[in-house]
Amino acid sequence: GQDNPGYFPARLGQSLEAGRFCIVRKLGWGQYSSVWLAKDKKQNQFVALKILTCESTKALQTSDEKKRSDELGMLQKISTAQRSHRGFEHTLTLYDSFEFQGPHGRHLCLVIEVLGHSVDYIRHLSDAGDLRLSMALTKRVTKQILCGLEYLHDVCEIVHTDIKHDNILFRLSDVNTVVAHALTAEPSVSYSADTEVITPIVPVVSQPLPLSLEDTVPTAHLKAVLTDVGHSHWQDHHFQELIQPAALRSPEVILGYPWGTSTDIWNLGCLVTEFLIGFWLFEFRAHGDKWNAEEDHLARMTEALGTKFDTVFLSKCQNSQKFFTSSGCWKNFTSHEEPTWLLEKLLAEFASVDLGEDEIIAAGKFLRKCLRMIPEERASARELLRDPWLADVFL
Ligand code: ADP
Ligand code: MG
Repeated sequence: GQDNPGYFPARLGQSLEAGRFCIVRKLGWGQYSSVWLAKDKKQNQFVALKILTCESTKALQTSDEKKRSDELGMLQKISTAQRSHRGFEHTLTLYDSFEFQGPHGRHLCLVIEVLGHSVDYIRHLSDAGDLRLSMALTKRVTKQILCGLEYLHDVCEIVHTDIKHDNILFRLSDVNTVVAHALTAEPSVSYSADTEVITPIVPVVSQPLPLSLEDTVPTAHLKAVLTDVGHSHWQDHHFQELIQPAALRSPEVILGYPWGTSTDIWNLGCLVTEFLIGFWLFEFRAHGDKWNAEEDHLARMTEALGTKFDTVFLSKCQNSQKFFTSSGCWKNFTSHEEPTWLLEKLLAEFASVDLGEDEIIAAGKFLRKCLRMIPEERASARELLRDPWLADVFL
């Protein structure tokens, strides 16, 4: 139909690219793609096939002005730019790509490494309702994602703009062994490692692979990978200006001030806070006709950081007249009646203390370097990697 973005209706056991790939099961899906586990018979390994919807494939191949993403171009750059960089292993490697015709139209298919569980999956494992990560795991993931960001920002000239729980996946230690093992435990697929025969029992499942947690959680040696550059931008070529998941959106994006790599640092600061406290740092909403959602969001930023927006900064923002008077006061309301807590108080109250109270203070200092209202004042990924909070994390 008209609204159908054209997902490829893959069948288990189906072969693609002249028999090179055999589809084994579904791994996940997003707005623009579905992702399938497949056996690559040429390389004799399991791979993930990210099959873009027809709509998304078209959007990628259209003229420059109409493009809304350059996922293939970015993955090619990431995979080749500087393999020796410390962030290389924390970004996604592209093995290959091809195009094919499906019943709804053409699809671009990205052949990528099979990864394990996402941070989103991991955080739902703990005791009922507690969505926090431990301090120890938070520090490891933060440092690894910062390495990946340093690579994207400084080498690849990419702004990720979509750093969230389900785009951070853990690398598997030994893909072929681990995946084959998981498939033998799979209730929906019958897989024989000896004969390589894959028999679907139910049509298509979209549950995470039943991987054992030892195979996927980064205790000491496993790595977090920042995936999904499907919504990313080139530093010097933006596909659109309204970016980022709303809750992780930076002040400059809301206020209409030029954004770049530092918008990812704000995004990361919000996310790391969420790892620690288990809920959104900025959970904003409209309040009747008193203030709208964006005003609530901006007000919460000032309260969590304990600072007002700088008037010189506001004077350089395209949208500031929507929200502020020329003297930097709220234009449409006088007081924000549901103030949010100061960052340090939130951490002290809600963060896990598995590594001791001092860690919470150190985390707060780190987060303050990420959560600066003025983008130019934020630390870069490279600078944050030298922060004392992360000094004892050995990658
Ligand atoms: P989208 O741009 O459509 O959001 P993603 O790249 O985020 O696509 O992939 C959608 C989902 O598929 C992810 O949230 C994850 O569950 C799964 N997935 C993506 N890539 C992989 C991979 N390499 N290995 C395993 N699962 C993956
Ligand atoms: Mg995604």
